Amino acid sequence: MGWVELNGVRKTFGGVEVIHGVDLDIAEGEFVALVGPSGCGKSTLLRMIAGLEEVTGGEISIGGEVVNDLSPRDRNIAMVFQSYALYPHMTVAENMGFNLKLSGMSKASQKPLIDEAARMLDLTALLDRRPAQLSGGQRQRVAMGRAVVRDPSVFLFDEPLSNLDAKLRVQMRAEIKMLHKKVGRTAIYVTHDQIEAMTLADRVVVLNGGKIEQEGSPMELYLRPANTFVAGFIGSPA
Ligand code: ADP
Ligand code: MG
Repeated sequence: MGWVELNGVRKTFGGVEVIHGVDLDIAEGEFVALVGPSGCGKSTLLRMIAGLEEVTGGEISIGGEVVNDLSPRDRNIAMVFQSYALYPHMTVAENMGFNLKLSGMSKASQKPLIDEAARMLDLTALLDRRPAQLSGGQRQRVAMGRAVVRDPSVFLFDEPLSNLDAKLRVQMRAEIKMLHKKVGRTAIYVTHDQIEAMTLADRVVVLNGGKIEQEGSPMELYLRPANTFVAGFIGSPA
C-alpha cells in the first residue's frame, strides 16, 4: 500500500472531463515527478491531492486515510508554487512562520522550527530580511522553508523553478534534491521540463491528455518508452 494513493481519480470542469481515471501509488519518502505538456492536467491532479480542487470521481488517500473530504490543512501536506507568494511586509522568519502562526502556535514555539528549517535551507543569515532584499533563488528557498517548518508528510511542488533563469534552475534542482534527502519525506513534483523530472525523481509519471501514458524510473522511460509520445517527450532515441 502506498503512502499517497490515487484510485480512479477523475476531474470534470463545467461538464468537460480533464482527468480521466488516474491510478497512482506513491511510497513513503519517494520522489515522484509528474511530467507532461502544458494543459495535460498536472496542476489539476496536484491540486486535488492538496485538497485545493474537489475530486469528481475516485479516491485519494494519504497515509492510509481517504482524504477526499478533508480540507487542505487537515491533509498534512505542504505545497510550493512557482510564484513565491511571500508577504512583502514580513521578514523571512515571519514568512516562514506564517502558517504556524495561523494554526495558533506561539512565537516561542515557532522559533526552533524556523531556526531548524533555516539551517537546512541556508537561510540563517537572512532571517531578518524582507523579500525585496533577496535574490530569486533565496526567495524560492524561503518558500520551501515555509513548507519545511510544518513538517508535512507530503511535499507538493508545482513548477517551483519555472520563473528562474536557466543557471539558477540547475542550482535549485540540486538544492531541492538535497532538501529531499535531508527531510526524507514523500515529494510529488510537477514540471513540464523532462530534464528536471529525470534528474530529480526516483520515478517519473508521464501524463498526457489527463491520463498516464507511462511511469517508471528515469532510466526505464529513457531506454524503454512505451510509445512514441513518451519517446518524443522524454527525448529517448527510439
Ligand atoms: P497543466 O498543469 O498540465 O498545464 P492544468 O491541470 O492546469 O494543466 O489543466 C488541465 C486542463 O484543465 C486544461 O485543459 C485546463 O484548461 C483545464 N482547467 C484547469 N483548471 C480549470 C478551471 N478552474 N476551470 C476550467 N478548466 C480548467
Ligand atoms: Mg500547471
